[in-house]
Amino acid sequence: MILVGDDPASKVYVNNKKKACEYIGIKSFEYLLPAETSETELLELIDRLNSDPEVSGILCQLPLPGHIDETVVINAIAPSKDVDAFHPVNVGKIMTGDYDFVPCTPAGVMELIKESGVDVEGKECVVVGRSNIVGKPMAMLLLHKNGTVTICHSRTANLAEKTKNADVLVAAVGIPNFIKGDMIKPGAVVIDVGINRVAPKKLVGDVEFETAEKVAAAITPVPGGVGPMTIAMLMKNTVKAAVKQNECE
Ligand code: NAD
Repeated sequence: MILVGDDPASKVYVNNKKKACEYIGIKSFEYLLPAETSETELLELIDRLNSDPEVSGILCQLPLPGHIDETVVINAIAPSKDVDAFHPVNVGKIMTGDYDFVPCTPAGVMELIKESGVDVEGKECVVVGRSNIVGKPMAMLLLHKNGTVTICHSRTANLAEKTKNADVLVAAVGIPNFIKGDMIKPGAVVIDVGINRVAPKKLVGDVEFETAEKVAAAITPVPGGVGPMTIAMLMKNTVKAAVKQNECE
């Protein structure tokens, strides 16, 4: 795990991932680098980790400081160790459906859906948000399960009309309490990916839970919903990477 700089939220995420590794018996190595680390220095470290047989998975916590190009860094991680599934090779594999690693947050959402006994086949699935790490891969995974998928974003016209049509609604917007109960179809399954800090010790999602839970058949809480699933899926990808790398030897 590489963390550049001291963003407090990133520190919490890295710490939670470290605890999960300890819990399941994965050895984790932390590289806590100062904010002024150069792109070259970071790339050198990634290069070393890429060729270190002791390392099965590499995670570089985003966001990176402004002087470092995130795309260059993501592209530098060996696809076989890219347990976040951000490398273009792994992104491309998600498009075709022939993938080793699934990005952790969308994978966690799919796991929640599956474990709740919800079948998305033939259902109207609406994803609000089109980021590369959540919205887009989320839409692909729902499509692979034969959902009829609509992706909404900041320029979508008549958003509520689209969300009210959703049997399965995934919110990944980053705006506190953005989706209200009256934007949800009665009986819908609502997955809230958002993590928004509204006070020093208060996190809320992108869905207004109080109004939404009255309408939805099932809804995930924040905190305690998608967040822990994301970490669980990271562990799964890391185990997969280790198994795959050892098979090849
Ligand atoms: P992002 O900022 O990259 O993307 C947000 C998306 O929301 C954009 O695609 C944008 O088009 C859309 N959007 C913005 N305003 C909108 C509007 N008014 N109407 C409709 N769409 C709008 O964010 P992200 O990285 O995808 O993360 C989204 C949220 O999920 C954040 O709260 C983030 O903290 C959270 N997140 C949670 C986890 C987890 O493990 N639970 C993981 C990653 C991100």
